[in-house]
Amino acid sequence: MTRIETLAVHAGGEPDEGTGAVSPPIHMATTFRHGPAGERQAGFEYQRESNPTQDRLETALSAMEGGQAALCFGSGMAAMAAALESLPTGAHVLIPTDCYTGLRVLGAEFLPPRGITTTAADMSDLDAVRAALRPETRMIWAETPSNPRLCVADIAALADLAHGNDALLACDNTFATPVLQRPLALGADLVMHSTTKYIGGHSDVMGGALVFARRDAFHDAVFHRRHLTGGILAPFSAWLILRGCRSLPARMAWHCRNAMALARFLAGHDAVEAVHYPGLPTHPGHDIAARQMSDFGGMLSVRIKGGRDAALRVAGALELAINATSLGGPETLVEHRASIEGANAISPDNLLRVSVGLEHPDDLLADFGRALGAATA
Ligand SMILES: *Cc1c(COP(=O)(O)O)cnc(C)c1O
Repeated sequence: MTRIETLAVHAGGEPDEGTGAVSPPIHMATTFRHGPAGERQAGFEYQRESNPTQDRLETALSAMEGGQAALCFGSGMAAMAAALESLPTGAHVLIPTDCYTGLRVLGAEFLPPRGITTTAADMSDLDAVRAALRPETRMIWAETPSNPRLCVADIAALADLAHGNDALLACDNTFATPVLQRPLALGADLVMHSTTKYIGGHSDVMGGALVFARRDAFHDAVFHRRHLTGGILAPFSAWLILRGCRSLPARMAWHCRNAMALARFLAGHDAVEAVHYPGLPTHPGHDIAARQMSDFGGMLSVRIKGGRDAALRVAGALELAINATSLGGPETLVEHRASIEGANAISPDNLLRVSVGLEHPDDLLADFGRALGAATA
């Protein structure tokens, strides 16, 4: 059992031993009976350390990503912070110029007091990455495709650069999901997910995960940190995210098909300045994406001619696509990133990020066509 569609349906899904229930039980217990000297019955003691429902999700995620172990958290940011804060004091981390805002803020505000520094480099430029490495660089953090410009980084090449510098390569695989891209197979040491997005898949559950290439000392350090700092995932959330895994490959195929259709449509529209979608042959990272991904994903961003006001008018004129942050749900979401990023926004002010949903593509194209026409008339 190695194909992703089959793993997604079955991994961590053994029918319940006691009842034969095909859908796994949600174990809400915070504490588990043990012997007088703490002898565990089935490996569990207290929910903050580990629990059976979360265990099933960890089994599924680790199987889909091809890792040796996974750890789930209450959000993607909790997962990201746990990984970065488990690095040794004095470590330097290279982060992407274009990346999830939360990573930049962690690097600017939360990591320096712990003795961990970050600097940014353009991860799609290997010379820039090489030049930005320092003797004390212990981790390269990649995000590909990245938020919000959909920049593509060559995971295998970054892994070589990291390992040549005695550093780990971590990859935020939230946009691609293990269905489209498996960084560990390309040489990465760690994969991070906001399972809030595609894996949960229904805009109704928050979670994060780390998947480790090896169950080694770094894994143990992150496990210990999670146990003691308490960023665990709630059992009901674990159950919902596990349910999301079952349909992930089928949903991703539909997301990719719709995104490609919308990207092509927008690229041909007069009111559009540029479309950032790795599936378009004009995208600078297209060849690398075609090599390391099985398809190009459901995220794109579009820059509207006429600047910030024109972009806001288009966003405001959409009727089917909902103005909201986040991504990976069934409904198409559109977001003016610069407004959401706030004071230190890095997104261009005419950029709209689109999480392309599961609607019929013709309805989506009609909505965007009408909004672009109305807002730019
Ligand atoms: C949403 C997101 C995160 C943060 O995850 P949360 O679940 O919101 O904490 C990190 N990276 C990427 C790429 C994201 O889209």
